[in-house]
Amino acid sequence: MTQRLLNYVNGQWTESKATECLPIINPGTAEHFADVPLSSAQEVDTAAKAAAVAFREWRRVPAPDRIQYLFKLKQLLEENLDFLARTCTEECGKTFNESKGELRRAIENVEVACGIPMLMQGRNNEDIARGIDEHMFRQPLGVTAMIAPFNFPGMIPFWFLPYALATGNCMIVKPSEKCPVTQQRVFELIDHLGLPPGVLQLVNGARDTVEAILDHPVVRAVSMVGSTPAARAIYARSAANGKRAQCQGGAKNPVLIMPDADMETATRILADSAYGCAGQRCLALSVGITVGEAKEPFRKRFSEATQARKVGYGLEEGVETGAVISAESKARIEKLIGVAEAEGASVSVDGRGQKVPGYEQGSYMFPTLLDHVPPQGEIAKTEIFGPVFSLMHVDTLEEGIAMVNDRAFGNMACIFTASGAAARQFRTETHAGNIGVNIGVAAPMAFFPFSGWADSFFGDLHGQAEHAVEFFTETKIVVERWPKEWSRKF
Ligand code: NAD
Repeated sequence: MTQRLLNYVNGQWTESKATECLPIINPGTAEHFADVPLSSAQEVDTAAKAAAVAFREWRRVPAPDRIQYLFKLKQLLEENLDFLARTCTEECGKTFNESKGELRRAIENVEVACGIPMLMQGRNNEDIARGIDEHMFRQPLGVTAMIAPFNFPGMIPFWFLPYALATGNCMIVKPSEKCPVTQQRVFELIDHLGLPPGVLQLVNGARDTVEAILDHPVVRAVSMVGSTPAARAIYARSAANGKRAQCQGGAKNPVLIMPDADMETATRILADSAYGCAGQRCLALSVGITVGEAKEPFRKRFSEATQARKVGYGLEEGVETGAVISAESKARIEKLIGVAEAEGASVSVDGRGQKVPGYEQGSYMFPTLLDHVPPQGEIAKTEIFGPVFSLMHVDTLEEGIAMVNDRAFGNMACIFTASGAAARQFRTETHAGNIGVNIGVAAPMAFFPFSGWADSFFGDLHGQAEHAVEFFTETKIVVERWPKEWSRKF
């Protein structure tokens, strides 16, 4: 039976009045198991107003008391980890272990936000002038919103939500309309926290729902993660409406493979980066640039690793690459491989048109290796967001760094080498916010900000850690004078 998802507004599970719904289909089995309503602007308004009312009291709850809810949430997430991971796999296709991994990072963010009593401390100076002191406090903004993408339905809202809550804000979460079920289950846990109604709310929907959030006068700040065109549009509309915004966009992440790299380690790690999560990570490495003599040994090993990858249903044991999000996405990826061929690339391992036995209706895209990809062509620059790896070649480290820097995105760049000097030059000169040295997915831990650059990020303050604390607070400066002679004599 399919479930029609609910909104969670003002502390109540609420049936959306929307007549339009989208089907949620398990991409690994093609089973239609839920429907997501496309909530109206009026439903956004109800949630925003409930949040504004809740904020008046919530901001005065002392930080040490606010974080008690997070301790409880951590415990509930731990206890339900397997159940949530299963849901995540069912709605987005990744493997069960990958789902567990993303939920682990969600929990880490809850843990970091439990440090808010220290993290949101201000600072002060005594006697900035004779008898005058100056203080800086951090105060919450008010009503905030989080717009999520499909590919990490459990984790990404948690780059923001624990910090918003702990710093004294209220938050409306709008999950991806492609993968909204995991957040529904997360909010079933949040419902048990005993939070005041309106502090955390869930409103399902798609673009119109987002636009209602962006245009709502009560919403002070918007956190968004998704594709670059959507991130750019949401950032611009938020800014035009006077809101604070942080919008993390798409990616096309390159890796340099130096001749002195340990080829076996590089191959193993890069195959997981490129083909894990079916290539649907914003930190997937999708462009491999071999330097000098690395070309032949890496190409041979990587081709073998591409063919050896076990593709299948994410809930089955031993599967390394699950389904892509939808049949449309599979068709789009296959079409882009055709574009690569037309541009002159050779398809050295072809993952098109294959099926997983027992799951013939599933949206499985097998790992694909493209060779001789023209660096100035469309495929070298386009985010494919599937298990497709493009090989290119240069003669020197300097040429490689220039190639890495010649692109619009700046989410991540990696190097595999045994040379500290090469690694240092790479890390210093490369235009990207997250750098991996002998690492395939340089995902910042929860206690570091997630530092995308260029077309991969619109804003100033990123998700996670101290950036999130700064994003969700505004500074208030107090300059004060208390002359002794004004005090009552005791
Ligand atoms: P998407 O841009 O289609 O959707 C993301 C969210 O924005 C959804 O909630 C959607 O409803 C909303 N949205 C989409 N278009 C909109 C518009 N024009 N106006 C208002 N709202 C809009 O992204 P997706 O397909 O769900 O996710 C995959 C993308 O996210 C990839 O490009 C990936 O690289 C990126 N991503 C980036 C990061 C990062 O940290 N930089 C992390 C994960 C995913």
